[in-house]
Amino acid sequence: NGEAHPAELNASKLVINLANELKPLPAPESLAFGETKTDHMLIVNYDPVTGWSTPEIKPYGPLILDPASSCFQYCPNVFEGMKAYAGPDGKPRLFRPQKNMERLTRSAERVALPPFDTNELLKLIQRLVAVESRWIPSQPGYSLYIRPTVIGTRAALGVAASDSACLYVIVSPTGPYFRGGTRPISLLAVGEHARSWPGGTGGHKLGLNYAPGFMPQRLAAKLGYEQILWLLGDDKKITEVGAMNVFVAIKRDDGDLDVLTPPLDGTILPGLTRASCIALTEAHNTGRLVLPGISPSQKLHTAECPVTMAEIVAWSEQGRLVEAFGVGTAVVVAPIGRIGFEGKDIILPIYEAGLGPLGKGLWETLTAIQVGKLEYDDWSV
Ligand code: PMP
Repeated sequence: NGEAHPAELNASKLVINLANELKPLPAPESLAFGETKTDHMLIVNYDPVTGWSTPEIKPYGPLILDPASSCFQYCPNVFEGMKAYAGPDGKPRLFRPQKNMERLTRSAERVALPPFDTNELLKLIQRLVAVESRWIPSQPGYSLYIRPTVIGTRAALGVAASDSACLYVIVSPTGPYFRGGTRPISLLAVGEHARSWPGGTGGHKLGLNYAPGFMPQRLAAKLGYEQILWLLGDDKKITEVGAMNVFVAIKRDDGDLDVLTPPLDGTILPGLTRASCIALTEAHNTGRLVLPGISPSQKLHTAECPVTMAEIVAWSEQGRLVEAFGVGTAVVVAPIGRIGFEGKDIILPIYEAGLGPLGKGLWETLTAIQVGKLEYDDWSV
């Protein structure tokens, strides 16, 4: 009928403009997380009348934005964190990428950014990773970190949803979180500054969730702790560790383990690693796979339930707190060695491998699936 509809995001329209000169690859050992930028980026803009523009892969470089753009003022900024791994055949692999796409959509919706077709975005990300595949270090533990980002670009100061947006994807080669072996991290339990709260935005991956954590993080570092254990509520429930989800393993009287992680009540970011760890403990129980280091007869009673600091203190005093760890894309599994709480330190059991048996079993299984050494459903793409 001649009426114009805003265009949908369409990967088949992709235009690729390659850089004339490629950067030299850095020595993998020299990589610091997120510092090294590759040769190219993916970019596509949304306009309320014309819709999503022609997607373009082009040389990495600055964005030019109107200083009034809403992303600088009201923070309609959302992002994802995912990785491409070199498979046994050298081909790049993504880990459950559709889950990142779903989470990005939910995040965009939460700050009223325009919607996009996640299948098309995933195809575009796959093209970018293919273009940048020489940047994926082949050494174990190395990968290409992928940062899809959507920012509101409405160039006006009125406090309103951004009707225009810029979607871009940058990638950065990255090494293992722990160099020279996994090592337990120290945490300061913080309740006076909250990362999230009921009805808030902690369950979404919004840029605005992170900046308020920087000042408390600095305080924790001054006191000699590496990261923050974020508490919530008068009963001091644990929620997350830094930018990771958290698990605790408690020895039961029957020798099995209770494996506990806080529930997705809106205050917890629904991590892919968290969901994958829950699924793998269930797979261990049904015998579909055996987590290395865990006896097949030892059942893992996994529950998504609130965990309070009072419980952690009691389990520690009773000698039942076997291990606690943070999980996330960057680190995979990070053991917790010490928790500063109300002026005292809770010391967790020490293991030779850094990780306890459950954390190590999960780490080994997850990393094997990520690099394509172990097939598990369609998790590795
Ligand atoms: N919590 C927060 C606050 C995070 O930023 C992240 C990293 N995305 C995670 C948890 C872990 O999520 P994932 O396993 O999807 O990386």
